[in-house]
Amino acid sequence: MIFKEEIIKYSKEIGIDLIGFTESEIFHDLEAILRKREKKNLLSGFEEQNIDKRINPHLTLENSHTIIVIGMSYYVNEGDITSKDSNKPTGNVSKSSWGRDYHLVLKSKMKMLVEYIEKKTKDFQYEYFTDTGPLVDRYLAYKAGIGWYGKNNCIITKEYGSWIFIGYILSNLEININMEESKNEGCLNCNNCIKACPTGALMENQLYNPKLCISYLTQTKEDIDYKLREKMGKSLYGCDICQLVCPYNSNKTTTHKEFIPVGDNYKPNLLGLLKLSNKEFKKRFEKAALNWRGNKIIKRNALIALGNSGDKDMVKYLVEYLNSPSIMIKKYTAWAIIRLDRKKGKKILDKHLEKEKDIEMNEEIKKLYNYYLRNLHN
Ligand code: SF4
Repeated sequence: MIFKEEIIKYSKEIGIDLIGFTESEIFHDLEAILRKREKKNLLSGFEEQNIDKRINPHLTLENSHTIIVIGMSYYVNEGDITSKDSNKPTGNVSKSSWGRDYHLVLKSKMKMLVEYIEKKTKDFQYEYFTDTGPLVDRYLAYKAGIGWYGKNNCIITKEYGSWIFIGYILSNLEININMEESKNEGCLNCNNCIKACPTGALMENQLYNPKLCISYLTQTKEDIDYKLREKMGKSLYGCDICQLVCPYNSNKTTTHKEFIPVGDNYKPNLLGLLKLSNKEFKKRFEKAALNWRGNKIIKRNALIALGNSGDKDMVKYLVEYLNSPSIMIKKYTAWAIIRLDRKKGKKILDKHLEKEKDIEMNEEIKKLYNYYLRNLHN
């Protein structure tokens, strides 16, 4: 039987920053939170839909006994990046997607860890996940003593703040879990995160509305209402606002080279993004976490960011996208044009309406006029 200390030692050798252990039990306290969120329609839809699977590890690995939870830090200070900035205007990508896709990095670390355990343990059974698994990563990290919940709903660690990726391994290992190892110190209740969130997604009592979260908005395929688009700023993928203002989060630079951006994908030029074919997009973002969301949604986000850039000069570059084969791109282009310059935008859209045959686009332009031009004279 392998000892916990051996697993911890090996995890450090292969570059895992944080490791903890928790029992595979039914998480009744979590169930109460999730049912409450479900009732209040506060689930994002990106998570596992079956709440039973989220709270019961045995529905994923029947004889699961211990869950090994790992954490890897990813904070990179923008000032330390040597690669060249893109031409302006640029969009913002969350730090979690600056470097190599963390799903791949964490899975390769967990693979090494299970292979190590497998060599030393008979009949070792396991399943490992990061981000897209059935259980709740953050809750497991909390249970395993890796960190504590902040009001921003992130797990905050003493060592790296909340700048950590989390992975977990369900296993049939019987390990004596020492709960005294928990490093929970507690949120400072400063409310910086609640105050800073542009969309008001964060609430007290660990409740938050994921559908207002900018990170969610940059990933959803659903239409985003105008008011929320305006609050998204120049976010292209993810959002770091509630983490950047947290007092626990300064000076926590990672040592993992994988998460340091190479090239300018961490801050791409917005007009450049609009020009990418699907093939070019896949090639450019092949190793980045945002790749999964696809070219069209990132283009939509680039249009929102351009609309929010305040740079009226951008209008002339946007006009051609009113004729895009994608109705979504056409609609968001019209929004960006009118948001940037109401007067000039109206002239451009009036002209476009003369030849526009698509009923949906016609309706959209009328909706935009109604929303943005009500108080515009002449
Ligand atoms: Fe807690 Fe303040 Fe950090 Fe929010 S910003 S998670 S309230 S310590």
